[in-house]
Amino acid sequence: MPRPRLAALTLLLGCVACQPLADLGFDRRPVYISEPIDGSTRGRLLNAVGEPQACKAWLATAGLSFRPVADRTEGSYCQVTGAGNLVDATPRIDASLSPARPMMACDLAAAVAIWRRQSVGPAARELLGSEVRQIDHLGVYACRGVGDPITGRPSAHARAEAIDIAGFRLTNGRRITVDKDWDGQGAEAAFLRRVRDDACRVFGVTLSPDYNAAHANHLHLEAGRGALCS
Ligand SMILES: [Zn+2]
Repeated sequence: MPRPRLAALTLLLGCVACQPLADLGFDRRPVYISEPIDGSTRGRLLNAVGEPQACKAWLATAGLSFRPVADRTEGSYCQVTGAGNLVDATPRIDASLSPARPMMACDLAAAVAIWRRQSVGPAARELLGSEVRQIDHLGVYACRGVGDPITGRPSAHARAEAIDIAGFRLTNGRRITVDKDWDGQGAEAAFLRRVRDDACRVFGVTLSPDYNAAHANHLHLEAGRGALCS
């Protein structure tokens, strides 16, 4: 595809700090949630954009399911289509999300499924000597713009394509929060920085307290074609 058309497509998609799609390593191979994160993970996940059937099939191979919810529109500003709830495997394999089963786009669900199984779980075992029981989040869908007000470009939250992660609860009873533990020197801070770094290899946009004060208490993890890691 010639460069001018790529540039036009990037503008149409409206993402921040975008790279041309070709530079993202777009990869037609399926996503395997049970495989470790590698250099092809993000490129493969781009297949999930607008491909809900494939996305559901990938989740099913990992023991997960995706239950569709009704499309949602708030004016012309916030539009969610093809979203659903990520339903955990039985018996449970991964840390559960809390609040449970937020409405999310399927490509976000697939990215979260990979991240929690291939990053959060192994990092906690290695650095904290425990399993993660629960991932606390601040929400997925919110009808708002980037930086909050409903002006300018809608946030990925307005499409249910981003989740804000506040912290983690371990099976040994410990609780780790982005707000209190990010700046420490101990294993908790090392864990948070590891899962942030891994998220950058899975999600299109990953923002942490290193990005700005608005992210001091959470990790913003956004599926799709963006290209920003901080
Ligand atoms: Zn966010």
